[in-house]
Amino acid sequence: MKPSEIIKDIFIVGGPDITDGRDGCIYLINLGELILIDTGAGWSVDKIINNVKGLGFDCKNLSKILLTHCHIDHIGGVPEIKKRYGSKIYIHKLDAPPLENGDSILTAASWYQTTFPPTPVDVKFDAPEEILTIGGQKIICLHTPGHTPGSICIYMDKDGKRILFGQDLHDFAAQPK
Ligand SMILES: [Zn+2]
Repeated sequence: MKPSEIIKDIFIVGGPDITDGRDGCIYLINLGELILIDTGAGWSVDKIINNVKGLGFDCKNLSKILLTHCHIDHIGGVPEIKKRYGSKIYIHKLDAPPLENGDSILTAASWYQTTFPPTPVDVKFDAPEEILTIGGQKIICLHTPGHTPGSICIYMDKDGKRILFGQDLHDFAAQPK
C-alpha cells in the first residue's frame, strides 16, 4: 500500500502494509507545521521520511511527535526522527518513564528482539483530556488507560468529520478519499 490522504491534510504514512510489518500505523497531520502520530518500530524511519517527502512536505517542519503509548511498534522511530529534525516528543506521563529509562521490557523492545535507548520526553500529558491547538485546529488527546497505564487516543474534528486515531491499529482498512 502507498501512503495516502485520509481527509484533507491528514495522511497515513506508515504501517504494516506501507513501511514495515512490525510498525503500528503512523499518521501525519499538516497544520502548517507537521505532526506525526506514532513512529513505527524503528526499522522504517527512512521509509517514513521518504513517504512524508513524497507527499510534498519538508521534514524540517516535523515539529511534534504525539505517541499513543510506550510500546516499541509506536516509539521505535522516535530517537532517529528527533535527532534528525528536533521534533518535540509528547506522551502521557505514565508512559514516559519506559522511554526515558530505555526500558526494554515495558517498551516491549525485548519482545521485538531490539533495544530502545533512553530518550527524553519533552511534554508529558497529565489531564484526562489534553487539548493542543495548532494552526487554529484542536487536537484532543484522551487518557484511555488499559493497554498501558498511559495510553491515549487522539481525535480531531475537521471539515464536519471526527477523525479518531486509536492506538494499536495494525490492520489499516480505511478507504482513501
Ligand atoms: Zn501496544
